[in-house]
Amino acid sequence: TPQTLLNVNGIEVIYNHVILVLKGVSLNVPERSIVALLGGNGAGKTTTLRAVSNLLRGERGEVTKGSIELRGERIEALTPADLVHRGVIQVMEGRHCFGHLTIEDNLMTGAYTRRDGKVAVHETLEKVYAYFPRLKTRRHSQAAYTSGGEQQMCAIGRALMANPKMVLLDEPSMGLAPQIVEEVFGIVKDLNAREGVTFLLAEQNTNMALRYADYGYILENGRIVMDGAAKALAENEDVKEFYLGMG
Ligand code: ATP
Repeated sequence: TPQTLLNVNGIEVIYNHVILVLKGVSLNVPERSIVALLGGNGAGKTTTLRAVSNLLRGERGEVTKGSIELRGERIEALTPADLVHRGVIQVMEGRHCFGHLTIEDNLMTGAYTRRDGKVAVHETLEKVYAYFPRLKTRRHSQAAYTSGGEQQMCAIGRALMANPKMVLLDEPSMGLAPQIVEEVFGIVKDLNAREGVTFLLAEQNTNMALRYADYGYILENGRIVMDGAAKALAENEDVKEFYLGMG
């Protein structure tokens, strides 16, 4: 059985000292897996990812209960930069490419924490281009003038430039045509299979996410209401009724 990479154990998150948003969320992400965190708008998916990557503080949020462990090490007190050094990178919702930079310069900003020199960084860039041929074609284009799909690919590619072990991917399907979502998820699946990158994927698009994930958790109003192997969830009658139309 695969080792646990990330373990979230009963976390509570409060915003602005009063708004209780996560009410005891637990989840387990095995090494080299794709885990989907599913649920509607406002369920708490983004908050869960922010808790893991320690990006809550800027949002006036804090983890008030529970624990978060990466390979058994408590990580709640680490900075986002510490987490990058441990191989954990978050790709934010809404893509966040630098519009005025070219695709290639955007990708290169993802390598700023690397200590292993130009040659290794260049090899990673070529690898990113091999997975995302569209980015290679568009490498000299200003990101602002590329399509939504290309910008999402750029955001994932930029995360890959840091050589991550684990990518926290927030709603990659948002605003994209189904065919482009398939393309993006297909590449995520390849990266997982061939490079061993672990993904924790927050998605409203339950149907699509369950086709690519190994395991899923369904979050509702700050609580996990169901979890299981992706296949089993996709075939579950309650999931079909309540979630498969979403996204
Ligand atoms: P979405 O698809 O909208 O991103 P989500 O499942 O990711 O949904 P969150 O963004 O985690 O949900 O939000 C969960 C709840 O926390 C929502 O009710 C939201 O209004 C609230 N919330 C999020 N960020 C803050 C904040 N900075 N301050 C106060 N409340 C917040």
